[in-house]
Amino acid sequence: MAQLPFASRIRVTSPYGWRTLNGKRGWHGGIDLVGEDYVIRASVGGTVVVSQIVTDTSNATWEWGNYVCVLGDDGYYIYYCHMAERRVVAGQRVRAGDILGIMGNTGFSQGDHLHFEVRNGQNQTLDPAAYLGIENKVGELRTDEPEPEESNTAWSDEAVAWATENGIIYGDGNGNLMLDEPCTRRQMATFLHRFAQSIGKA
Ligand SMILES: [Zn+2]
Repeated sequence: MAQLPFASRIRVTSPYGWRTLNGKRGWHGGIDLVGEDYVIRASVGGTVVVSQIVTDTSNATWEWGNYVCVLGDDGYYIYYCHMAERRVVAGQRVRAGDILGIMGNTGFSQGDHLHFEVRNGQNQTLDPAAYLGIENKVGELRTDEPEPEESNTAWSDEAVAWATENGIIYGDGNGNLMLDEPCTRRQMATFLHRFAQSIGKA
């Protein structure tokens, strides 16, 4: 499963498909995304096959500005366009989540955004929203996991209390648990066992 190309919150600003832009009806071959943190990440692992900017406007590719194309290990070609900066070069291997570049406004673009496009081996575009497992419509996407509620950690209290009493871990006074002096293999194994048991009881 492909992952979203930003680790931060994302806004879908223009869906895939037919749209009217500046009064002209046109085909939008990708989906436009705006990531809060501007850092564009690989949706799937693969090999960078293109990392360039085309400035010759007789070549339609100039519209993509600074763009990166990754041939994913799933066989699809993923295009990341309009970047302010590219951080990978052609031939480079990337894993899902690796930084490809910084979101920008290069090429044919009105404002900072990522044009995210998916093509198959026949060079046909696919619905990138379906590829990412999101809805193909304008809206906010939350990708940051909410912090677990304090009450949800109650199940681990017993194991933590035991490990503290036995000098394996200690609180640093800032709400963090620190590992004490290197503990023995047996102490760690016992702690992990009790911890796993306490999860099972929750
Ligand atoms: Zn676009």
